[in-house]
Amino acid sequence: MRAFAEAIESGASGEDLAGLAIPESYRAALVRREDVGMFEGLASSDKDPRKSIRIEDVAVPELAPDEVYVAVMASAINFNTVWTSIFEPLPTFGFLDRLGKESQWGARHALDYHVVGSDASGVVIKVGSAVRSWKPGDRVVAHCNYVDDQDPGAHDDAMKAANQRIWGFESNFGGLADLTLVKANQLMPKPAHLTWEESACNALCNSTSYRMLVSHNGVNMKQGDVVLVWGATGGLGGYAVQYVLNGGGTPVGVVSSADKVKLLEDLGCEAVIDRRAGNYRFWADETTQDESEWRRFGKDIRGLVGEDPDIVFEHPGRQTMGASVFVAKRGGTIVTCAASSGYMIEYDNRHLWMKLKTIKSSHFANYREAWDANKLISQGRIQPILSAVHPLEQTGEAAYQVHHNLHEGKIGVLCLAEKEGLGITDPEFREKVGEDRITLFRRHASSAGVGGKSAG
Ligand code: NDP
Repeated sequence: MRAFAEAIESGASGEDLAGLAIPESYRAALVRREDVGMFEGLASSDKDPRKSIRIEDVAVPELAPDEVYVAVMASAINFNTVWTSIFEPLPTFGFLDRLGKESQWGARHALDYHVVGSDASGVVIKVGSAVRSWKPGDRVVAHCNYVDDQDPGAHDDAMKAANQRIWGFESNFGGLADLTLVKANQLMPKPAHLTWEESACNALCNSTSYRMLVSHNGVNMKQGDVVLVWGATGGLGGYAVQYVLNGGGTPVGVVSSADKVKLLEDLGCEAVIDRRAGNYRFWADETTQDESEWRRFGKDIRGLVGEDPDIVFEHPGRQTMGASVFVAKRGGTIVTCAASSGYMIEYDNRHLWMKLKTIKSSHFANYREAWDANKLISQGRIQPILSAVHPLEQTGEAAYQVHHNLHEGKIGVLCLAEKEGLGITDPEFREKVGEDRITLFRRHASSAGVGGKSAG
C-alpha cells in the first residue's frame, strides 16, 4: 500500500492510481477470535484494548460489484472499537458469523480476525463493476451505515433495514487499516479544507448527533430549545453542542473537569455543569436512585438558564437516565443512542407520563443524514473535534484512552498518511473558516496534556 500512499501524496491522477496493482495483503488493526476469552473474570475497566488489538498483515478481500477499495489515509477511534476490543457486551465475531451466512459476499466477513474501525478518510483506488458515482482518485470519507439496498425496509429510512449494520463493528474490513472495503453508498466527499486526520474523525459521531438533534428522525430541534448535553466535550457531545448553537438553541453542557469546562466555553457553550465538582449522587447505592439528587441537578440547570431542558441528549445510560427523565421539561424529549454506563435503565415512570415527556431512540444515521452532516463540515459550519493523533501501531493505546475517558473529542489515527497536516486541497477556505476554530480541541488537548499520553 506504500506505493498508493506515495502516489496520492505526489498528486497522482485517478488513472495513475487505477494503474497500480492492488496488493495481496495490507496492514490492519484487528482482534482475534482466539483472544475472546482473554479478559474472563475481569471488571470492564480492567479489560485492556492494548492487549487485544493487534497490528497484522491480512489478505485483501475480493471486491463485490457494489463496493470500492479505499486507500485509508487516516481513521479514528470510536467507542464501538472499545466494545470490540474488550469483547463486550458481546464478542463481535457473532455479528461476522451472522453476516457470513447471509450471502456469498457476506461469507468473506466470517473470519478468525476482525479488522475494526468505523471511520476513514482516503482515496478510492478501485471500484466494483456496479459502482456508478465514484471512481479511482476520488478523495472521500466513509460513513458507517452498512445497508443492503435489496432490503425493502431500507427504502424509507435505511436505519430501519432489517439487516442494517455498522461497518467495522458488525462487518469486517473496517477503517483502522491501510485499506478498507466499503459499499459505494458509504462514500461522501472529503472536506477539502481539512487534513486527512481532521476529515477522518467526523462521520460516525457527527452524523449520529445530527440525526439525534436535527433530523426529523430525531428530535428536530427548534430555535430557542434548551438542550442538556451529557459528555459535552466527548465524541458525540462535541458535535451536539455545535448543532445546538448553529440551530439557535441553548446548550447546557455537562462535563467532568475544569479543563473541559474551559474547552466548552471556548466552543461557545456558556451554560456548563462540572458533574465532578457538583458531585451528583443519582444512585444512593447499586439499586436505589436518589430523587433529591435529580432535583438538585435540575435546580442547577435552572440556575444557569432559567428553565428546564426541552431536550436531553442522552448516552451515558444507567448512571444518568433517571436524572435525564426527571430534569426534562414538561412535554420535553430525552433522545438516547447509547448506554455506556449500563443498558438496564431505570427511571421513575411517573415523571415521564404525568409530565408528557417522550423518550426517543436513535442510532447512527441514514445516508442522507450522514451526507447532510458531512456537507456542514465541508461548509465550515461544523468543526472537527480532533484532539489527539496516534499512528496505526498505537491503535490499542488510542482505544485505551477512550475506554478510560482520558481524551476529549475524537482521537485520530494515521494509517497511510505519514504525518499530520497532509491532505488539505483548499487552503484558502481553511483560512476563511479559521485555523483557531478548526483546531480548537487539538490545541486545547495539547495545552491540557490530554489524550496523547500513555496512562498505562
Ligand atoms: P466519548 O467517550 O468520546 O464521550 C462520552 C462522554 O460521556 C465522556 O466524554 C464523558 O464526559 C461522558 N460520560 C462518560 N461516563 C459518564 C457517566 N457515567 N455519567 C455522565 N457522563 C459520562 O464517547 P462517544 O461520545 O463517542 O460515545 C458515547 C456513547 O455513545 C458510547 O457508548 C458509544 O458506543 C455510543 N455511540 C452510539 C452511537 C449510535 O449510533 N448509536 C454512535 C456513537 C456513539 P465527562 O466525563 O466530561 O462528563
